[in-house]
Amino acid sequence: MPVAEKKGTRLFHHLKKWLELAIMDYAMIKEGDRVLVGVSGGADSLALLDLLKASMVFVPQFSVLAVNIDMGFDPSYSDYDLLETYLKVNNYTYVMEKTDIGPLSHSDYNRKNPCYLCSRLRRKRIFQIADEKKCNKIALAHHKDDIIETLLINLFYGREICTMMPKQEIFQGSMHIIRPLAYIEEKLIKKYVKEREFPTIENKCTTSKTSKRVYIKKLLQELEKDNKDIRENIYKALRHVKVDYLPQNMRDMK
Ligand code: SF4
Repeated sequence: MPVAEKKGTRLFHHLKKWLELAIMDYAMIKEGDRVLVGVSGGADSLALLDLLKASMVFVPQFSVLAVNIDMGFDPSYSDYDLLETYLKVNNYTYVMEKTDIGPLSHSDYNRKNPCYLCSRLRRKRIFQIADEKKCNKIALAHHKDDIIETLLINLFYGREICTMMPKQEIFQGSMHIIRPLAYIEEKLIKKYVKEREFPTIENKCTTSKTSKRVYIKKLLQELEKDNKDIRENIYKALRHVKVDYLPQNMRDMK
């Protein structure tokens, strides 16, 4: 039975409700939008793709194009065939493209910061496909925990206090990046993916095991042992920014 036919659990309705709320709160989708969904094949992107296909009460009609960019880390890895079968069986319109972005980002001249080039090249290709296919929205599967972790990554390593936006204008407003999972916790997405048995693809990138994000994830897990609300507190702090208590003219003592 195609995976999409097994719907209607409590978890599904719960996730759909919060997805719909995020879409409505940020006016992410308008009537007739063409939404490119970035599908890495990981749990988050498959959950997003599935939830966007569900009928929603308040969200207007829109179309979906699933786009998978194979980063080329392991040419012998065959699970991309399973992903393609899944997309076909569930009647998705899709583009699957093989690239050498992964090896290129890890080549000798770029070993120090593979993630920067990797994300840049992948994004560039996604924007090009969106343009070719006349998509005006690009939906990415970043969830609530990604937003929390990115805030800390930018603070610890980027010297900035900022994070991912649920909706972000690009190319002077001709396209928008949207993050419909912005309100949803990663653990619920993982639970849903298990419940639905999506054909997830393993990330073959060696850097993904040692990235700054993995470090921050582990750090939060450690801190959670003493303060179980830590993630929620960080998330809520985003709505309580006291700009008057952020000094603007500090000097660097160098
Ligand atoms: S962890 Fe690997 S796949 Fe992810 S952005 Fe970095 S280099 Fe690319």
